[in-house]
Amino acid sequence: MIKFSINIHRGCFGGCAFCTISAHQGKFIVSRSKESILREVKEVTQLPDFKGYLSDLGGPSANMYQMKGKDESICKKCKRPSCIHPKVCPNLNSDHRPLLDIYHAVDALPGIKKSFIGSGVRYDLLLHRSKDEAINRSTAEYTRELIVKHVSGRLKVAPEHTSERVLSVMRKPPFEQFETFKRIFDRINKEENLRQQLIPYFISSHPGC
Ligand code: SF4
Repeated sequence: MIKFSINIHRGCFGGCAFCTISAHQGKFIVSRSKESILREVKEVTQLPDFKGYLSDLGGPSANMYQMKGKDESICKKCKRPSCIHPKVCPNLNSDHRPLLDIYHAVDALPGIKKSFIGSGVRYDLLLHRSKDEAINRSTAEYTRELIVKHVSGRLKVAPEHTSERVLSVMRKPPFEQFETFKRIFDRINKEENLRQQLIPYFISSHPGC
């Protein structure tokens, strides 16, 4: 699956306590330019065994492309391990429009039949209500587009646990957010006459458990 997948950014600001990504890639997202991504996609379309299906357009977390602090001088002094736990930071710009723009540009290229999102999606970012209504619209649009056009039958998400205490030690959102996202996922599937599945990942025997 790696051969036909495209990495569009590095880093993760999720700060999950069990994960090393922020240690080796950093908390701050470094995003590739649109030109660089499209250039690589075009190269992949020329591979002899490519059939038109990209297995992933992603990164450590699928939906953090181009996200960063609105005021980066605050971020430079920030000591929080996570920009989204226990609550989404008011300084975080969680606009999904740059990512949608990448999806649209990739899907418009000749030779691309489908681009799937194989990387894990942070549904807590999709459920977050910003004070900016344009950002809320981008999140709703992203959620629908992800589910309708970019799922290869199964969408991976990582609630990781069900216990509030363990989730808090893990720096993961409350389990009810997974249930809320599942309701949205099922509703959109029904509206679109799709029969896709949500695949939740769990960690057993975490030290906090
Ligand atoms: S100020 Fe907010 S957005 Fe910036 S690094 Fe800290 S938690 Fe993240």
